[in-house]
Amino acid sequence: MIVVMRSGFAQEELARVTQMVSEAGLRSQVTLGENQAIVGVIGVPITDQLQEALEVLPGVEQILRVSKRYKLASRDFHPENTRFSVGPVTFGGDEIVIIAGPCSVEGEEEFLQAAEQSRAAGATMLRGGAYKPRTSPYEFRGMGERGLEIMAEAREKTGLPIITEVMTPADVPLVASYADVLQIGARNSQNYLLLEAAGAAGKPVMLKRGMSMLFEEWLLAAEYIMASGQPNVILCERGIRTFETATRNTLDLSMVPLVKKMSHLPIVIDPSHGTGKADLVPAMAIAAVAAGADALMIEMHPNPDKALSDGAQSLNPAQFADLTPRLEAVAGAIGRRLARLNAAVAAD
Ligand code: PEP
Ligand code: MN
Repeated sequence: MIVVMRSGFAQEELARVTQMVSEAGLRSQVTLGENQAIVGVIGVPITDQLQEALEVLPGVEQILRVSKRYKLASRDFHPENTRFSVGPVTFGGDEIVIIAGPCSVEGEEEFLQAAEQSRAAGATMLRGGAYKPRTSPYEFRGMGERGLEIMAEAREKTGLPIITEVMTPADVPLVASYADVLQIGARNSQNYLLLEAAGAAGKPVMLKRGMSMLFEEWLLAAEYIMASGQPNVILCERGIRTFETATRNTLDLSMVPLVKKMSHLPIVIDPSHGTGKADLVPAMAIAAVAAGADALMIEMHPNPDKALSDGAQSLNPAQFADLTPRLEAVAGAIGRRLARLNAAVAAD
């Protein structure tokens, strides 16, 4: 249920609404606009009696019942785009954030090199996995905490904020103590205890779409994170599993306009996992920008042939450097631009 306050409402009137909601054992989320406010009511049960009682309070214009199962993540509850900064970059605004880096952190030297190359070519956030969810238990599963230390060193050297995956609730405090953004991977996107732990960690969370996840399930997974206290969630489409085998996954770009329509959360496209093939990545990255994505996550490795994970879908530094001006051109054509590091950081 959404309570729409009359324009020019008084603060006491708003306070009476939220008090009545809390007396009914429910939570309020207030979104303030100029002279306006809407109160999202969250929880169960939302009764007709409560609706009737709220309807007659002074300052209340109307009550809307929301039939969607996700509330905090829905645009009905929060009509403006969610916008927030992570270090020098802002998600959800006019600027498009380019997140780049290798699939896994493989060693200090390799990662620092990848970080410098990513920054030089226009990336504004650094990715890398220290805890890797691998389909086979015999493959490289990441460097663990040492990988996080290396990422923090790369942030120090380049000024780029870092995003990295967390796989278990027990690891959340440690990973959150290093990461600027926590990544929830496709395989864990419906691990509800992990979503709650990540949501309570005090850092923005990027939630990948599971490989067989419906749109509503994805938004409900975001709802878990938001209901645990974290409003700054980024949705990431990374391809879903279909009957097609010529690509690793089927990148569902229609999620960009759909997320924009149904939710206020920023959306990231990951064309690397979305295609599984480096030569297909640039075209899909360009298409994602044209479709209105707020950010891209692109795997870039100093030497993809030697990568310990996902080499086949990783761009090499030259390919990545060739792509970013093309992204900039497409962004310009739709009235946006790529995010830049601020002058102080970029000048080092
Ligand atoms: C990754 O980003 O390297 C990763 C494991 O992605 P996904 O969870 O989308 O497979
Ligand atoms: Mn990967």
